Amino acid sequence: MSHEKFLDELISTLGADVAQRGADVPERYHTDWSGTPPQRPLALVRPRSTQEVSAALRLCTAHQVAVVPQGGLTGLAGAAVPSQGAIALSLERMNTIENTDTRAGLMQVQAGVTLQAVQEAAVAAGMVFGVDLGARGSCQIGGNVSTNAGGNGVLQHGMMREQVLGLEVVLADGTVLPMLRPMIKNNTGYDLKQFFIGAEGTLGVVTRVLLRLRPAPQATATTLVAMPDFDAALAVLARMQSHFGNGVAAYELMWDSFVQASLSWLQLGAPFAERHPLLALINMDGKNESQLQGDVQQVLEEAMEAGEVVDAIVAQSVAQAQALWKLREAPAELNNNMHPAINFDVSLPQADIGRFAQACEAAFSARWPQKHALYFGHVGDGNLHVSVDGKTVGGTPEAIEAVEAELYRLVGEFQGSVSAEHGIGLHKKPYLQASRTQEELAAMRAIKQALDPLGLMNPGKVFD
Ligand SMILES: Cc1cc2nc3c(=O)[nH]c(=O)nc-3n(C[C@H](O)[C@H](O)[C@H](O)COP(=O)(O)OP(=O)(O)OC[C@H]3O[C@@H](n4cnc5c(N)ncnc54)[C@H](O)[C@@H]3O)c2cc1C
Repeated sequence: MSHEKFLDELISTLGADVAQRGADVPERYHTDWSGTPPQRPLALVRPRSTQEVSAALRLCTAHQVAVVPQGGLTGLAGAAVPSQGAIALSLERMNTIENTDTRAGLMQVQAGVTLQAVQEAAVAAGMVFGVDLGARGSCQIGGNVSTNAGGNGVLQHGMMREQVLGLEVVLADGTVLPMLRPMIKNNTGYDLKQFFIGAEGTLGVVTRVLLRLRPAPQATATTLVAMPDFDAALAVLARMQSHFGNGVAAYELMWDSFVQASLSWLQLGAPFAERHPLLALINMDGKNESQLQGDVQQVLEEAMEAGEVVDAIVAQSVAQAQALWKLREAPAELNNNMHPAINFDVSLPQADIGRFAQACEAAFSARWPQKHALYFGHVGDGNLHVSVDGKTVGGTPEAIEAVEAELYRLVGEFQGSVSAEHGIGLHKKPYLQASRTQEELAAMRAIKQALDPLGLMNPGKVFD
């Protein structure tokens, strides 16, 4: 059947307000934040309900047309970029917060609601949501589920997977799986929803999510700490965790290269009189504001005496805490300042992260003496980000590939993972086998074949 017949049927079934032909699709749906070359979709579908998603997918199956789900398009692996001949299915209109139950600590939302809207609704209800990341204003809960997003809260609350109690998913043939029972314990065979978390839209479309909320902390403290080296950073983390336990809510490490870029791109004043090899932004939760502040001061003094901390600022107000966190917002500026930004998101055994960063720096400098590379990450959970300015290594596709090959070679040497949280998408497909065995890949393909036998869901992403 021709695409014309499919498009006519799609528009007559869903209406011209929901389905648009490719020629009319605005450019913002052609690519995502990753810098992947844009591709015009065959059509754009923006459903308002699960029933409309199901109707669209039934038609796609009947006409064997591929579907690329799109959330907030902030993904960094190219996973939401339309493939040729596919429709883009945007969840942006399915953005209702349907129900908040503070006694049970649950919130049910449609998949297109933004992360920030969920965070704000949780706070308004006197609770908090456990995931936070820089793209919060644009990324959607469905995208967070589909990438199993991480971010700043993983140390305390775990990844997105740990915040999901239930999912509603539509399969490629239009079948709706309503897995929304509000229970933690449900050992009735396979926990099907887990297959869709982190699947990057390759198994079905997430339409509703039942989220877990956490009790709001009674008191919080933020400190910015300067340290001489990575071993000191690990010692400070251990010291904080031994004192505050699960009250250590975030531990974000920034190498000096990152701090200098952040100061310049965001036009911020330097926090300390001198430059230091490493800064950590640390958030702590507690029960009583003044006791927490006192405890933080005391632990920092002990760390200074031990030579682990060289200097520190403890925020005295919410405004000062927000100003300190501004330093960590440079990733939102990467695309404006690097041409292109070659971004890495790797996981490593925590104790090896410092040595890994040094090995990268040495390997890059040996080959590209002019290179500009930044190191930062959610080091509390073993996740390091590296961003390299493409134009400082030659800027050609071959040069970018060479930088990637060099870094992923080191990831293999250090027994790490090529993606800690951003996913595989298109960008990391060639390196997937560095972190997965042939047997694991075969099991993934078997699951894909069972749930999407025609291979219509986000084809060409994660694996071929
Ligand atoms: C400044 C900045 C900071 C970031 N920081 C972090 C960070 O700290 N931690 C982190 O993990 N990520 C981070 N990211 C990456 C990105 O924000 C996350 O991956 C986010 O979860 C993507 O959500 P999205 O709605 O934008 O998804 P999109 O980019 O639209 O899509 C991502 C993938 O999910 C699929 N998808 C989207 N919605 C659905 C759905 N409803 N059903 C099925 N599949 C769907 C798409 O097909 C695609 O495969 C950052 C990005 C930016 C730009």
